[in-house]
Amino acid sequence: MTIGVQSDRFVAQRQKMVAAQLRARGIRDERVLAAMGRVPRHLFVADEYRDSAYEDHPLPIGDGQTISQPYIVAFMLEALALDASETVLEIGTGSGYQTALLAELARQVYSVERIESLALKAEAILQRLGCSNASLIVGDGSRGLSEHAPFDAIVVSAAAPRVPQPLLEQLREGGRMVIPVGPADAQELQLVRKPEGRTVVTNLEGCRFVPLIGEQGYGEGW
Ligand code: SAM
Repeated sequence: MTIGVQSDRFVAQRQKMVAAQLRARGIRDERVLAAMGRVPRHLFVADEYRDSAYEDHPLPIGDGQTISQPYIVAFMLEALALDASETVLEIGTGSGYQTALLAELARQVYSVERIESLALKAEAILQRLGCSNASLIVGDGSRGLSEHAPFDAIVVSAAAPRVPQPLLEQLREGGRMVIPVGPADAQELQLVRKPEGRTVVTNLEGCRFVPLIGEQGYGEGW
């Protein structure tokens, strides 16, 4: 899909976000920067947060969940190094903002969200934007989505105790996964690659995400 150039009242704020929060901090992937300059982030937050949508921090999206800070979204997308022919699995749809960006950067997106009300809201916005290459699924994404595997890339937007084995198995040879791994208070964002039958893990940077709740994640009480 390609979201056209948006002429809403947030254009200047969006361009400022790209310049000051992303480019100035080292995001270099022009496809990622262009997509973040197009996707209307303010549509993915509740009315009361519209005017803060392009600020340099996460925001609440209901059900105790958050839309991530723009910089961390850009950082994860850059690390995934997607090309336009690829299929990507996203775990943790949340507001659907990152889903829209993935749909701009890849051929097909499958996105799994465990909270149905969030998935329904996200689906409505993605439809409104004409995003036809993203499929939303309600369920436990810690188990992956075997019916559509293997994936060229996987991005997990919630913190896991370890890299879930099903996700590793559903990543194709040569694929890339970006996932925050660690306890509640602080995690490491990891890039997991599968070159020549091996698994190579690189620590990218410290981060703090809400927990991945599910069979291969944390228990409900975390
Ligand atoms: N990237 C999202 C955005 O742009 O709005 C924000 C994702 S939010 C930080 C993390 C999301 O992961 C939450 O919506 C949460 O409900 C979801 N989540 C947590 N555990 C999950 C699981 N096992 N399967 C699917 N989604 C899960």
